[in-house]
Amino acid sequence: MSLKKTLTIAGSDTSAGAGMQADLKTFQELNTYGMVALTAVVTMDPETWGHDVTPLPIDLLDKQIKTALSIGPDAIKTGMLGTEEIISRAAQAFKDSDAEIFVVDPVMVCKGEDEVLNPGNTDAMIKELLPLATVVTPNLFEAGQLSGLGKLTSIDQMKEAARIIHERGAQHVVIKGGKALEGQEAMDLYFDGKTYTLLITEKFQSSYNHGAGCTFAAATTANLANGQSPREAIINAKGFVASAIKYGWKMNDFVGPVQHGASNKVEKIEVATKEV
Ligand code: ADP
Repeated sequence: MSLKKTLTIAGSDTSAGAGMQADLKTFQELNTYGMVALTAVVTMDPETWGHDVTPLPIDLLDKQIKTALSIGPDAIKTGMLGTEEIISRAAQAFKDSDAEIFVVDPVMVCKGEDEVLNPGNTDAMIKELLPLATVVTPNLFEAGQLSGLGKLTSIDQMKEAARIIHERGAQHVVIKGGKALEGQEAMDLYFDGKTYTLLITEKFQSSYNHGAGCTFAAATTANLANGQSPREAIINAKGFVASAIKYGWKMNDFVGPVQHGASNKVEKIEVATKEV
């Protein structure tokens, strides 16, 4: 059996719930051969869990991308890129590859930290990543930035943001309402350029959801690599991450990661859809 190959260009989360660790675990769960080109290493202060982001030298990223592309990834995903230079490298990596699938998770802040990694990154993502993206998976904050609409609090505002982000070149847009959007359900808005669809699951009370965003985008990438349509890939990824959140666990006083393999090993969660 030959496996499809999935490459993530992302940071390392040393606590291993998010970042490239989440991507690799998800790629493995969903039967793809996961590969990594690492952009930065995130470490945490054991006393406060304050994050420290150490970028890797750019020539080391270039060498990793060169190696990974020589292996021929079928799909490429981006995670934390951190600087405009790295955003350009990620865009170029996709252009230089034979991959037909590019999933952009437009990470702008480290979970638990409020500071935007670098404001110039937003413009670079709009100019360089959105026009190439098969799927882009912003959360509410990121969608507000990528659309220029600012704070989004309603489904109507999410629809408008999705329309703008699609117009900026992304073929499929998923805006994750997740836990930030008020209500009993965890709702994401999917726009394929024609139809707006809400993807809905129960909203789990778990605060052990570290890595949910990375896991969702990585699952979308693996599903697409395995031949699912964008709609199927996204809906199935939503079910996969809902299970991962439901069975998240407490790591220490600061953080609890999702359980990446819960959908395969514990419980599959159904996703409801509704056109809006
Ligand atoms: P992150 O903040 O880690 O980026 P997101 O908020 O982007 O996570 O959510 C990733 C996915 O997990 C989305 O599909 C979102 O709807 C879902 N999700 C987030 N929080 C919950 C929750 N409490 N219960 C169920 N699903 C959730």
